[in-house]
Formats: sequence, C-alpha cells, structure tokens
Amino acid sequence: MRKETLEGLKDQLNPTSKISIISHKNPDGDALGSSLALHLFLKQLEIPSQVIMPNNYPDFLKWLPNNQDILCYDSKEAECKAALEASDFIFTLDFNHLNRVGSLGDFLKDLEATFVMIDHHQEPSDYANYMLVDTQIASTCELVYEFITSQYPSTSLSADVGSCLYTGIMTDTGSFRFPSTTSKTHRIIANLIDAGANNSQIHQHIYDSNNISRLHLLGVALNNLKVIEEFNTAYIYLSQEDLNSNDFRKGDTEGFVNYGLSIKGIKFAVIFIEHKAENIIKISLRSIGDFNVNAFARKHFSGGGHNNAAGGKSDLDLKSTLAEFETTLKHYKDDLS
Ligand code: 5GP
Ligand code: MN
Repeated sequence: MRKETLEGLKDQLNPTSKISIISHKNPDGDALGSSLALHLFLKQLEIPSQVIMPNNYPDFLKWLPNNQDILCYDSKEAECKAALEASDFIFTLDFNHLNRVGSLGDFLKDLEATFVMIDHHQEPSDYANYMLVDTQIASTCELVYEFITSQYPSTSLSADVGSCLYTGIMTDTGSFRFPSTTSKTHRIIANLIDAGANNSQIHQHIYDSNNISRLHLLGVALNNLKVIEEFNTAYIYLSQEDLNSNDFRKGDTEGFVNYGLSIKGIKFAVIFIEHKAENIIKISLRSIGDFNVNAFARKHFSGGGHNNAAGGKSDLDLKSTLAEFETTLKHYKDDLS
C-alpha cells in the first residue's frame, strides 16, 4: 500500500514555520535516524524544527548527530507540550497511530497543527493532512530520503543527514538482510556513503558497543529459549528479576528475538519481557516467510507493525502470558507447520 499526498506542503515550509518532528515511544534507529535527518535537512534550508521523543532511547544511539537537540517527553513534559502547541506543522515519523506515542497521543489529537505522516507500517490511521506512506518500504529513513530528494532536488545532503538515514536503514533492514531490502535500498545507501556517512563507524557504534552485563543478559535469554518444534516456533522470556540482576539498561534486549529465528526451520520467534513498572509484558514478534506477525500481534497482543516484525503487550503476568501464547499457537498450526 502506497499513499503520497504531499502536493502544496513544500510551499508552506519556510524559515518562519514552527515545526515539530515526533516519533514513537521507545524510539529505535529508524525513529531517531529519520527524525534527526529531517531536522538536520530542514536546518540546511534554515527552517528550524524541534525533535520530540515520547521517552528516552538507548545509549548506543546517543552518538547520532544532533541527538542532543531532542526533547524527551518523559523528562521535559512542559517544554514538549509548549513546542507542540506552538507548532504549525507536526511531522510524525515511523508510526501511523497516535496511540504509539504513549500518553502524548491524546494531547496531539486535540492540536490544530497540520500533520504530516511519513511512515512504512501497515494500516495507517487518518489523522494526517499530508502523507508519504509506503508499507512495502523497509524503513522510514528511505521515505525521508525520498521526501528530501523529491521535494528539494537541488539541495545536496550533508554528511550528518547521510549518517542519520544510514542508521535507520541499516537497523530496520537487519543490516541489509531482510527481504524488504531492495536494489533501491542499496542505491540509496551508496548515495548516503557518497554524502559522507561513515558506514563502518556506524556499524561499530550500533553493534560493537556492548557492555559485559548485556552479554550476560543475552546468556540468560538464550538459556530461557524454548523451541516448540510442532509449530516451528521459538520463544524467549526475561523476567524483571533477570533484568535487574544483569544491570539492565534501555536497549539491552534489542535484537535478542532474532536468535530464535536463527535456528534452522524456525518460522516464528517471540520474546516476552517483563516490565514491572508498567505492569505489562512487552512482546516482540518476528517471522520468516508468510506468517503475518502484524496480524498476530494486533489480534492477541494489542500491537502491530509489519508482516515479519511486530510488537505488542500483555496485561497478564509472565507465566500466564506464556501459557496463553502456547494455547493460541494451536490455532495457527496450518500457517506454521
Ligand atoms: P520491536 O519488536 O522491535 O519493538 O518492533 C517491531 C516493529 O513493531 C516496529 O516496527 C515497531 O514500530 C512495531 N511495534 C512495536 N511495538 C508495537 C506496539 O505495541 N504497537 C504497534 N502498533 N506496533 C509496535
Ligand atoms: Mn521503522
């Protein structure tokens, strides 16, 4: 599904415009990369903007150019609300439902600003006045690249814009290996390297910045990995106690779910992580092939995402969530075996 309604937007953006750029809760490489890239590109055009995130993000993304410009709603509530209230334009990036920004969603809903959605998730809602949406594209960063190069063809990208976009494309394509990675993805990546993105250094920042406690936590996760051969499914769980005893920091569990999928024959992998503070189990789901985890997450875990990568949550305790998951799986025997 593709929807592009950008006609007339560019003519309204100028150095006196008041612009906010916001992405989803628990922002990842694509959320931050796309938001900072747009912010930095607008800055090149001398159009100021304020980047807002619903909550904090992992340390391994804190090298991103100008990430210090970001206001996080969980620590700067009043400033974020003031910026949003003063905005003529609010760009919403890498999400398509206002419930994805946590408690800020209700606040956004009542604002008079013009909304612009740039996103690649399934089933967009209809809050936006302007849209660049393509659910086939691997990352929002590729769509921000399209936005920039189609709307402003004569302005070249800075190295920092290139680094931000490279980061989101790399993380959302699983380092260029998911089937959503196309020759066009690689052509864009080539252009970003030409613009000055330091590809090797970006990989190091993201993937080679572990501390030992994260690797110990991975050890616990792999010990807690359960394979259900009948359904070609593997799942991992981590209790709050597992997190606490391994000095858990935001982002430490990023990518753990993929270990389930790395087992030969596994088509469906899930990780369940207990969050005692919110009293929920946060769930990440991944698949290889036709099994649609977006539909599964929507139906059973109040979530969503893409066909092969989705997230959701459960309000039951960890043990009951796992038991219910195993029961639910039985209804998907035909799809999974
Ligand atoms: P992750 O499992 O890495 O957190 O997220 C995988 C994909 O699912 C991402 O595209 C993310 O935006 C989406 N996603 C994660 N959690 C949720 C959720 O609770 N609701 C919805 N609608 N999407 C989610
Ligand atoms: Mn994304």
